[in-house]
Amino acid sequence: MLDRLRAIVGTQQVLTGEEATAYLTDWRKRFIGHAQAVVRPANVEEVAAVVRLCAQTRTPIVPQGGNTGLVGGATPDRAGQALVMSLTRLNHIRSIDVLNNTAIVEAGVVLQTLQERAREVGRLFPLSLAAQGSATIGGNLSTNAGGTQVLRYGNARDLCLGLEVVTPEGEIWNGLTGLRKNNTGYDLRDIFIGAEGTLGIITAACMKLYPLPSSSGTALIALHSVSQALRLLELSQRIAGPTLTGFELFNELSLLLVEKHFPTQKSPFEQRYPQYVLLELSNHEPEEQTRLLMERLLEAAFEEELVADAVLAQNTKQAQQLWALRENISEAQAAEGKNIKHDISVPISCISEFVSQTDALLQQQFPHVRMVTFGHLGDGNLHYNVSAALAETLQPPFDPSINQPSEAKIAQTAHEISSKTEEKLLLQQSAIYQLVHDQVHRFGGSISAEHGIGQLKREELPRYKSAVEMRLLQTIKNALDPQGIMNPGKML
Ligand SMILES: Cc1cc2nc3c(=O)[nH]c(=O)nc-3n(C[C@H](O)[C@H](O)[C@H](O)COP(=O)(O)OP(=O)(O)OC[C@H]3O[C@@H](n4cnc5c(N)ncnc54)[C@H](O)[C@@H]3O)c2cc1C
Repeated sequence: MLDRLRAIVGTQQVLTGEEATAYLTDWRKRFIGHAQAVVRPANVEEVAAVVRLCAQTRTPIVPQGGNTGLVGGATPDRAGQALVMSLTRLNHIRSIDVLNNTAIVEAGVVLQTLQERAREVGRLFPLSLAAQGSATIGGNLSTNAGGTQVLRYGNARDLCLGLEVVTPEGEIWNGLTGLRKNNTGYDLRDIFIGAEGTLGIITAACMKLYPLPSSSGTALIALHSVSQALRLLELSQRIAGPTLTGFELFNELSLLLVEKHFPTQKSPFEQRYPQYVLLELSNHEPEEQTRLLMERLLEAAFEEELVADAVLAQNTKQAQQLWALRENISEAQAAEGKNIKHDISVPISCISEFVSQTDALLQQQFPHVRMVTFGHLGDGNLHYNVSAALAETLQPPFDPSINQPSEAKIAQTAHEISSKTEEKLLLQQSAIYQLVHDQVHRFGGSISAEHGIGQLKREELPRYKSAVEMRLLQTIKNALDPQGIMNPGKML
């Protein structure tokens, strides 16, 4: 098998042993797999040839882009039979059509690279997320990624007009159309988007571009509650209309984690508040007009008593500093330790009630947990993450009348308690999942808003989808991949 792979892609591009290790673990280090090898084809023909070989030999294929996925979708199982196919060498932007506002890009193009190339020709590629320096377009489409601009531009699916795909038999489907209107039967593109590599391999895509806004405004707003944030969202949409491009919420614990793990990043406020909103406007009007619009919005928010405090970025650097407080939350949480992630969405109008009810239920049943809640409030999507208490917030049970421990001793004991609560938390993972996901279901929401199902939520899916829907999904899978070689054990 390995010799035949080497004959297709070249000896250097078939990795085994040490060289393969980084490809076998997911970003969160929750899943570690084994594989025969990691293969790194350079173009669609090589991808197709490798897939034909896998189809002949019934070898499972795990497609992988930037490996930034958060549900273990790009990590093989432990059997060691699979082949990980890294698409990162398919990294060419084949063409940009400025007038048609489209770019044809290969699957391994890094998201940030496409953003930069679009900018060079006066266009915006709006998909934006904290992992954009590594995540690839193929991975973005396969997970139907969301991010911080969905409110205005939609998710990866909304930004894609056409695809090139290698099917599980190793045929190449060229559907790289740049058409906005095309009603000629079932939409194959939509079947492959969000399929997490279980139906075929995306090798290229035709993505939408937009005129580049000429100005933007960023504000960080402190609030007392999630319900205030919802009213602020409604007000912002009323005043700013389509210029509102970002509306991100994070709670105090999220901010504390960023301050702890990124010591140069600090809250701009003198006081602490329970919730914060990062609000972004972008506009085709001059800078001055955007500033006035932002000021009008904030004035109205203060008048309606929706805001406790607010800072307005005065320049790009300050805007980046405010965004860093939001974008580093995932990294800070990973540095802090293990946690239980929920990437959920509920109708926007229900978010406040969802959070207060679910917080209360969790506190009642698992008193040691803390919620690190952040996300894309404007899309009804929260990363409702449950973690063990921070060591700093724990009060070790020393009796002051007996002895007075040193500060170091207090810190060490707090750390030990924190590690134990982390272990305890992970033991309760399935009960916590069920509590949160049942709540999501009760509110008519989704247990995966933007990260996908992967390995992490595969067992959860049938609990919340009807038998009819599960059967239809399995029918599509069986029809397109009858041998079951495409990313087995993921999603279904
Ligand atoms: C710090 C951080 C912040 C993040 N923020 C967000 C966010 O705001 N919004 C969001 O949606 N996600 C977010 N993510 C998750 C992640 O970045 C996205 O899911 C991203 O789309 C994954 O892209 P990737 O190239 O890394 O894909 P990978 O992780 O390599 O793969 C993801 C899935 O797609 C499949 N796949 C990859 N490439 C292909 C291909 N060419 N053909 C077929 N299948 C393929 C894989 O098999 C796997 O199932 C974040 C992740 C991190 C680490």
